[in-house]
Amino acid sequence: MNRRKFLGTTLSAAALTVLGRFGAQADEAAEKRINLPKTNTAEKKMQMIYRPLGKTGKSVSVIALGIEGFRYKSAQQTKEMIDFAFENGINFIDVCLSDPVLLNNLKHAIANRRDQFVIQGHIGTIWENGQYRRSRDLQASKAAYARMLDAFGGRTDVGMIHYVDDENDFDRLFGAGIIDYAMQLKNDGKIGAIGISTHSPLIGRKAVESGIIDVIMFSANLGYDLNPEKNEIQYDKDRLDFYELCARKNIAIDVMKPYGGGNLLNADISPFGKAFTPVQALHYVLTRPGVAAAMVGCQNIDQIAQALAWCTASPEQKDYAREFHEINAKSWIGHCLYCGHCAPCPQNINIADVNKYLNLALAQTEIPLTVKDHYRLLKHHAGECIRCGVCEMRCPFRVSVREKMQQAVKVFGY
Ligand code: SF4
Ligand code: SF4
Repeated sequence: MNRRKFLGTTLSAAALTVLGRFGAQADEAAEKRINLPKTNTAEKKMQMIYRPLGKTGKSVSVIALGIEGFRYKSAQQTKEMIDFAFENGINFIDVCLSDPVLLNNLKHAIANRRDQFVIQGHIGTIWENGQYRRSRDLQASKAAYARMLDAFGGRTDVGMIHYVDDENDFDRLFGAGIIDYAMQLKNDGKIGAIGISTHSPLIGRKAVESGIIDVIMFSANLGYDLNPEKNEIQYDKDRLDFYELCARKNIAIDVMKPYGGGNLLNADISPFGKAFTPVQALHYVLTRPGVAAAMVGCQNIDQIAQALAWCTASPEQKDYAREFHEINAKSWIGHCLYCGHCAPCPQNINIADVNKYLNLALAQTEIPLTVKDHYRLLKHHAGECIRCGVCEMRCPFRVSVREKMQQAVKVFGY
């Protein structure tokens, strides 16, 4: 059986066409490949690829770093991780926490080469009683961002309005307050471009249409983009349209959760029932239209190296589609694919989101602060489940939703 034929057994023709269409680099003409000198930390000579960050005038490494995993690291450990990343060509860093200790460690790790990094700092994330919080309080957000600016020489390259998934929140934010603050920062030269982070393609679309946003941080991976329908896997059309819109308008996407929070790397919790390698997962997101870079959350140097392996991987190593071999409807049973067919819940619980945050929490030894807070921000929580079971009757994948709700209560506490 040839490759196309075996893929066709599990992927719908439309999904296959879409995957194939973006199988090559999204925009090779715009990319720069730079051979980096061999260093004592890099085992082999790396070849980093840089892409333009939309219209911002910045050029960013396709493998980029999210810093949530830098929490609890000492100043020395932080410096070693940043040094390793930098020596291997990583120049793009997303800073979503305004933890003063972490910012101070980053400040010293980056200090003498600030201009060689592109820093994306989040507006609307605050640090309160030793905890991360999303905030819409303008004064608190300003105070937190002042710390961010101080850590990075008085400016960030992208001021990223933090975590907007709800239309009302979007309308409020873009009406006044935080958006005015972001525009003022841009006018004052304290941020280079304005971005927004979201998990929703519909919010992403609104952001593009606003004409204010140049960069969108978007959660993307195979698990979020592909929906199972009966025995086939379909590409989520809203998400595909969003990628294509960004590519057309030259709005840069940088991807969060390229590994699905770790789920895709673990066969037990992967929605596909199979583990992908970091290289495969990264290759998928880096070949979506409009994507400039993948923000990889790394806890240590080994994990940075695993992501960097994408730069030197062979086409066979990057080929994520071969993992679909032998996936059949049976392997979806019991795995939540966040399709939403179980809605509506009489308690208005967003079951898909609860399951998503639960899986993100279960994939890590310690629940990431952002996941904890995203769960907190849900309007209704698993603890409100009355165990009526109507969701389970609607779920095409026979997910034991009631058990999942109980598990979520155990994990998050409510
Ligand atoms: S519980 Fe079932 S129906 Fe609901 S989002 Fe998950 S897979 Fe879809
Ligand atoms: S069992 Fe719980 S989650 Fe499912 S529909 Fe009923 S209340 Fe909602």
